[in-house]
Amino acid sequence: MSSADTKYPKAQNYINGQFTSNDNPTMDVFSPLDGSTIGAVPLSKGKTLDEAVAAAKNAFPAWSGLTLKERVQFFFKFRTLLEVNKDELSLLVHRENGKTTGEAAAEVSKGIELCEFACSLPQIIHDEIQEVSRGVECRTSHHPVGIVACITPFNFPHMVPLWTIPNALALGNCMVLKPSEMVPLSAIRIAELLKEAGIPDGVFNIVHGDKEIVEAICDHPDIEAVSFVGSTRVAKIVYQRATHNLKRCIALGGAKNHLIVLPDAHVQMTASNVAASMSGCAGQRCMAASAMVAVGKSDHIIDELCKEARKIVPGKNLGSVISLEAKARIERYIDEAEAAGAKILVDGRNTNVAGHENGYYVGPTIIDHVSPDMAIAQEEVFGPVIAIMRANNVDEALKIENNSKYGNAAAVFTQNGSMAKYVTQHASAGMVGVNIGVPVPREPFSFGGWNESKFGVNDITGKSSVEFFTKVKKTTTKWNPEDKTNWMS
Ligand code: NAD
Repeated sequence: MSSADTKYPKAQNYINGQFTSNDNPTMDVFSPLDGSTIGAVPLSKGKTLDEAVAAAKNAFPAWSGLTLKERVQFFFKFRTLLEVNKDELSLLVHRENGKTTGEAAAEVSKGIELCEFACSLPQIIHDEIQEVSRGVECRTSHHPVGIVACITPFNFPHMVPLWTIPNALALGNCMVLKPSEMVPLSAIRIAELLKEAGIPDGVFNIVHGDKEIVEAICDHPDIEAVSFVGSTRVAKIVYQRATHNLKRCIALGGAKNHLIVLPDAHVQMTASNVAASMSGCAGQRCMAASAMVAVGKSDHIIDELCKEARKIVPGKNLGSVISLEAKARIERYIDEAEAAGAKILVDGRNTNVAGHENGYYVGPTIIDHVSPDMAIAQEEVFGPVIAIMRANNVDEALKIENNSKYGNAAAVFTQNGSMAKYVTQHASAGMVGVNIGVPVPREPFSFGGWNESKFGVNDITGKSSVEFFTKVKKTTTKWNPEDKTNWMS
């Protein structure tokens, strides 16, 4: 794991193709790898947002006037730039977020795949046309919604912005991005590469900031649609405020993903999958396994899981968590579970990484005999921690899973096809895995959970995002006066 010795220039807002200095107050950006200050980010005010929205509005007529095929040409170029700059982009994610370089490289690869999907949009979007009456045709066509704003979290500084940027822009919208103030640097490189790819000034803008700028986005009269990715607490605030102001909104929230492990599961495959799911990106993934329901006699699988977890070494194949506050919160959950009678099988508290003594590390942690009413069983911990609950049969396990207020992901581990089908049918989650611990749907399939893990009707990526980022027009046409219209003449 490299040190975070590089310092970056103060982050600037990106408006109308220019990085702009302004008088906004700033806050420091820390590298979680060693706690060092690596930059600063402006906490912008509503006036800066007004400037960004004005730039987007100004760019909108020409950009939306291009054909879809013309717009995606920019994303072929952008995709190549992501590929060419992959190492540098990965290092930046590693430094500002604290995940391992391998995980950061995987994040950039996923960004490339998202871009490829946008490049394929002309192959996917087909207007429909039908002769609905003699000589009368009805046709549907997709149109951009206008100015869209996207608000993103800290855990995927590169990928989550790219969940929306390529699709939203290729579909003809102009955008204001509000990245997480904890990881503003990757978004800046994305802006530079979009410019290098030839995206016209004003089509894409960045306004940095915190709560204040998010509220200004929800209230801005010229923003038509808002996408949000972050915690459920804030997703609810954003969804309520944006829709109250009559905007389209999709707001993805937090998660508590349950893995149901049946005693017949393949031991090694299950143990390595569960260990990777709970600890990948230091458990700071909305798709991470954070609860495991072991059905029946499953101790042999739990033993193997502990062996796998002990192979995970903080600072080597496990990155840091985002902040000192996050480390304290995660360790508090573990303390409370222990005090309530749960058994800590693998303990990641008080982890120190030599050479990174000020880094924010928590080791992999496995807690057994958790009861479903404990906080660690119900709340999102967002660290490399898994809470194991016991169930006598699959219905008891499903009851525990169904009781969660979240519903992002769920998974079942078994070699029995009918049991797997039963669980996938009855799990209350938007993304379900069979023998897969992180069941992220890949393009062209769309990403989105259920329950309090998502507010709004569409998904944020894939084909479903086309509905979110476009309006559909229905045009009815007749040319020949001889044709007798036989309805609604
Ligand atoms: P967060 O909710 O704290 O912040 C997300 C964004 O909201 C940031 O840009 C932040 O500046 C802004 N924000 C924070 N507090 C706000 C407030 N009170 N009012 C208005 N805006 C506010 O989330 P985070 O800590 O950056 O990210 C982690 C969370 O994101 C986890 O809960 C994780 O599960 C979730 N997440 C969900 C998905 C998904 O697809 N469902 C994907 C990634 C992350």
